[in-house]
Amino acid sequence: MYYKSTRNSEIKISSAEAIVTGISRDGGLFVPNEIPKMSLSEIKALGDLDYPEAAERVFAKYLTDFSDEEIKNCVKSAYSSCGFETENVIELKELRKGLNILELWHGPTCAFKDMALQILPHLLTTSVKKLGVDKKVCILVATSGDTGKAALEGFKDAPGTEILVFYPENGVSAMQKLQMTTQEGENVGVCAIKGNFDDAQTGVKKIFTDPDVAEKLAENGIMFSSANSINWGRLAPQIVYYVVSCAKLMKNGSLPDGEKVAVVVPTGNFGNILAAYYAKLMGAPIGKLICASNSNNVLTDFLRTGVYDRNRKFYTTISPSMDILISSNLERLLYHLSGEDDAYIKEIFAELSATGRFEVRDDIKKSLAELFSADFCTDSETKCAIKAVFDSFGYTVDTHTAVAVGVYGKYAAATEDRSPVIIASTASPYKFPAAVLEALGDTERCSDEFEMADRLYKISGLDIPKSLSQLKNKPRRFMGSVEKEAMLEAVYSLLKIK
Ligand SMILES: *Cc1c(COP(=O)(O)O)cnc(C)c1O
Repeated sequence: MYYKSTRNSEIKISSAEAIVTGISRDGGLFVPNEIPKMSLSEIKALGDLDYPEAAERVFAKYLTDFSDEEIKNCVKSAYSSCGFETENVIELKELRKGLNILELWHGPTCAFKDMALQILPHLLTTSVKKLGVDKKVCILVATSGDTGKAALEGFKDAPGTEILVFYPENGVSAMQKLQMTTQEGENVGVCAIKGNFDDAQTGVKKIFTDPDVAEKLAENGIMFSSANSINWGRLAPQIVYYVVSCAKLMKNGSLPDGEKVAVVVPTGNFGNILAAYYAKLMGAPIGKLICASNSNNVLTDFLRTGVYDRNRKFYTTISPSMDILISSNLERLLYHLSGEDDAYIKEIFAELSATGRFEVRDDIKKSLAELFSADFCTDSETKCAIKAVFDSFGYTVDTHTAVAVGVYGKYAAATEDRSPVIIASTASPYKFPAAVLEALGDTERCSDEFEMADRLYKISGLDIPKSLSQLKNKPRRFMGSVEKEAMLEAVYSLLKIK
């Protein structure tokens, strides 16, 4: 197997190269040249394995240039250490017959991004070694909250790497800020910038693509790489949990032979739901892919009409990790649905950057309608969903998961589809305690996030993740903030470059 670019099918590189490079020079994303298949019995057999063992089997299908030993070491380092607060890594909870919640947030930062970012550093350092690159790798991240912390936890003290995260000073939740300012590790840097997320993102991109900076880094034996969600090394780990979840449902009798499970995913950059699509192509018994958005519903409109139009109002919502108007990973889906037509992909994404809009061909519209269903929830619908799940099942969901719950309710009401369902749960409710408490009708004033967590514990009975409660007593290490023009100096200072 090899990897090619969505904008140039002629490119032929190994998975190690795809992971180290991140994005193709032509602006395209790397995709495997064929989707590996697993038979139903092969999938079902994963249900007898623990998570790391099952993950090894799925990874082996995609990382064909890695040895079994290399895959095993990466998987073990990511999922067998104490980073996850549940032995199973993921938890599949059945709220009632056929209604399953897939909890993906038991990792060190309490969001599903840990599933990929706990293993990416190991995949990356292994790839660097395999390719004989003898440079230190510097990861630069601009974050609106969850990605930055998950990347910091993944890369902290990873040999041969440095990581620097920029976040908007007033653009992340109190808990997220605390998570980042108390970050431990010898190779980490965290820096607030006086600006918004776009400023942070633009600044990082500028540093990343500046040839003078690259040269100066190279003189010092350093190269940049990226940990954002277009890296194949972040997508592959997400395919694993969909295949494993199907295996578990098949094994416990919830998914009889011949039946399919619908999957609902709270979506932003389209990475998580794309992984479910790949799992389906591999042979996992997945039916409809239900894309759930918040008021930033550019994907709802696109999947329904075939018109992608980012020229619209941007909303700041209570599910901030889905406040996105450009869903980068959509490009991979459209590449596959167009019959791997690289020229066509190049054309529509050029149109997107020029006009903010494109409309896909009729054959692609047809495929989208067959594969997907899409809807969205406003903030008030999201809060209603939190309350409804709690009242019906005594189960507490975070604001992002609640968007998926609300959208599934609309889907069930509007269709005849009564197949079993997996709702992806992407964050712990303790990460967004203010909004969750409000949704549950608890309006008591709290002095800080920890008091809110205690109140939420009293109401929900759900254990507070240790990684969050421990933040209270951790020293604040990174309290500084810089002007957005000073980001490059911050990079040089972390890397001790003059
Ligand atoms: C990142 C994130 C999402 C969106 O996932 P995508 O892969 O970007 O679609 C949803 N929920 C939470 C909590 C997240 O952190």
